[in-house]
Amino acid sequence: MTEIPSSQLIKTAQAMNSGGLNQGTSGNLSVRSGSGMLITPSGMEYTDLEPEDIVSMDFEGIVSPGGGGVQRKPSSEWRLHADIYRQYPQANAVLHAHPVYCTALSCMSKDIPAFHYMVAIAGGRDIRCAHYATFGSRELSGHVLEALRDRKACLMAHHGLLCFEENLTRVLRLANEIEHLARVYSTVLSLGQPDLLTDTEMARVLDRFSTYGKQD
Ligand code: 13P
Ligand code: ZN
Repeated sequence: MTEIPSSQLIKTAQAMNSGGLNQGTSGNLSVRSGSGMLITPSGMEYTDLEPEDIVSMDFEGIVSPGGGGVQRKPSSEWRLHADIYRQYPQANAVLHAHPVYCTALSCMSKDIPAFHYMVAIAGGRDIRCAHYATFGSRELSGHVLEALRDRKACLMAHHGLLCFEENLTRVLRLANEIEHLARVYSTVLSLGQPDLLTDTEMARVLDRFSTYGKQD
């Protein structure tokens, strides 16, 4: 696997906030690197980040010393990111954010059902909402892994959104797609209860998604 420079992680993290997906020091972003990961530091504004602020660590929580300067503390959600890389070999980038509509639905502990065919973008017929646990806890990581079963995204109750992908570009795109779906679903709920697509139809959509967007 080609090594991803810290500058690319910073660029994507900044795009999370400038694109309206996230705000303040909420959220975190990581990319697989060798046998560990590079992850955003805890509680720092993305606009101020320099490559030396990015933390390199293994999946047990051992931080590799940076090259001079201050050693930053990793995101409080490092365990969640590490557990996802361990569980899913296809995950090379993990994004967590507090986008408005995903977070609003998560505060109602609501899954996103098959109200629209694009729900399949997360890998299945719905996007589950993981049970609540305190941010940064081992318990939260367990709940998220359970909600991610056969999916690459989930909501986190009273908290936000989590998703993974094969690279940074795709994970940002997926997060934006899911926030858009959450926005539409919130609007739909204000109109009433939507009809849902059947499991058979969602299976057909998932099959189409296996080739959709591949131009060669
Ligand atoms: P960090 O700043 O420690 O990454 O935490 C932000 C967050 O969203 C915790 O869930
Ligand atoms: Zn969070």
